[in-house]
Amino acid sequence: MDRTLILLKPDCIHRRLVGEILTKFERKGLRLVALKLIQADKALAEKHYEVHKERPFYGSLVSFLTSSPTVALVLEGREAVVVARNLIGATDGTKAAPGTIRGDFAISIQNNLVHGSDSNENAAKEIALWFTPGELTSFTPIDTPWVAGS
Ligand code: UDP
Ligand code: MG
Repeated sequence: MDRTLILLKPDCIHRRLVGEILTKFERKGLRLVALKLIQADKALAEKHYEVHKERPFYGSLVSFLTSSPTVALVLEGREAVVVARNLIGATDGTKAAPGTIRGDFAISIQNNLVHGSDSNENAAKEIALWFTPGELTSFTPIDTPWVAGS
């Protein structure tokens, strides 16, 4: 089972889309490992988007992520990273396919509602950045044989 870090970014909270977007991930069969509402400080936002440090949008992106609360969550399931990225859709909301979260709800590049880790390696780093080990739960949902059966 793989894990991924998902952020419902500040625009998602302002637009009251948290429930609707969480539902998409739940419905797919991914399970909640951890969940919290947190306002990222500058250090956390800068570290999270460190890979984009040299990009022209970095300053604006960090300001956006620190501007108000974010819902951070960890999801687990078979191929969780890829499954979540497919649900989220392309970065630019205008190019994201209909049916994806960004394709259905976003028209911006920066304010594209959701972050999802892009590899298992980065997921592990990002989970450790946003959560302490004690915040991560371990349980098997009762419907696992039906959702994940091979
Ligand atoms: N972003 C931006 N301008 C750009 C590209 C990206 O503001 O030209 C923002 C956007 O919020 C995006 C985040 O930076 O989600 C990280 O960019 P990345 O290329 O990693 O996109 P993602 O993995 O989120 O699809
Ligand atoms: Mg990315």
